[in-house]
Amino acid sequence: MNEFHYISYAQEVIFGAGSLAQLSEAFEHFDHQRFVLCTNHSMRVAGHVDSVEAILGERLVAVFDQVRPHVQDVQVNEILAIADEKNADAFIGMGGGSTIGMAKAAAAMLEQKRTYHLKPSESQIDQPFSPVFAIPTTYAGSEMTPVYGITHTNENPPRKVTVNNPKSVPKLVIYDPKLTIDLPSEMTASTGINALAHCIEALYSIKRNPLSTAVAISGVRHIINALLLCYKDGSNLEARTEMLIGSHLAGLSLASVTMGLHHGLCHVLGGSANVPHGIANSIILPHAIRFNADATAPQLLPAAEAMGLSLNGSSPIVVIESLAQKIFDLVGQMNLPQRLRDASIALQESDLPRLALIAFQNRTVQNNPKPITDVSQLEELLREAW
Ligand code: NAD
Repeated sequence: MNEFHYISYAQEVIFGAGSLAQLSEAFEHFDHQRFVLCTNHSMRVAGHVDSVEAILGERLVAVFDQVRPHVQDVQVNEILAIADEKNADAFIGMGGGSTIGMAKAAAAMLEQKRTYHLKPSESQIDQPFSPVFAIPTTYAGSEMTPVYGITHTNENPPRKVTVNNPKSVPKLVIYDPKLTIDLPSEMTASTGINALAHCIEALYSIKRNPLSTAVAISGVRHIINALLLCYKDGSNLEARTEMLIGSHLAGLSLASVTMGLHHGLCHVLGGSANVPHGIANSIILPHAIRFNADATAPQLLPAAEAMGLSLNGSSPIVVIESLAQKIFDLVGQMNLPQRLRDASIALQESDLPRLALIAFQNRTVQNNPKPITDVSQLEELLREAW
């Protein structure tokens, strides 16, 4: 890693139990004052939407609390229409990665709509016209990245397309571990594995850099310390706090690199077969690690060490095989599905060749550190995961 090139982003990050109360004060630093909240029903039930409404008062011009998974294009259009009607100038995503992704997609579309007459800037570090603010309550990590996926629902099957737009990076992130206390155990486990996957793919990314590597290694340590504790007792605020630090680091490690095979496959399974993102991550990660082991073992050794595995005279590839097995076992310990056949009733074994073909054309899959030259490599991996 003697040459590198990456973009880092200006973001205000406020972390701490009870930090949601600082939202109003934090917003005083921004010119934007007409917010649309993108969230979903469970945030309403948990009372978190009420809290934001109480804090922001009239500055909250609309609440869209029906965000579905995987950022559906039809919902983006609905929110865009609401934002336009209410003359909104910024978006808040509160909840999982889908709500934050929705806020990013809507903000980008609003900017496009209101500035179409201007010459598009080619700068990668321009400030956004309508910024995104994020209040994450899962461990998906979208709040730290310039990336979002949009699912094109009029295609058959629907296809999730990833967009990398530096202006989409949330300008303010409020991490309040208290908001994660009611995150159900399955979501805790599966989005926790998603965070671990960010660190793993950052470590072997073709765009890795000293910052992403350092952050990813630290992320793995926090996640491994805290994830099982959070799964076993969601009310453990200390563990919830450490896990949220881990997911913050995981998201940050992802922000300056490109992901590879694992994330590309998870996007295909989510967008085209409706497998929840965290579940796709939990099933695919051990297989992606094994697939890449001969090309990436040295980069993954620090993650293996953080999980208690050391070389002890073995070859790096053998240690990385053990890492894959250890993650497979962790997924099982948290009662998550370990095989694709258990991921979604909508998914059939006969779908695998078609999914492999979609994945073969996926840009993220093609950014994998070990070249993927034939669709049969992907079909074989999916069959192993079946
Ligand atoms: P999600 O947002 O699709 O769903 C989260 C679920 O958990 C929802 O049902 C929600 O109601 C529930 N939930 C969330 N917080 C809760 C709480 N505190 N209490 C009770 N219920 C709660 O799931 P996700 O895994 O967080 O996000 C996945 C999406 O994010 C995918 O679209 C994925 O592609 C995207 N993603 C993007 C990035 C990125 O860098 N842009 C990174 C990771 C994931």
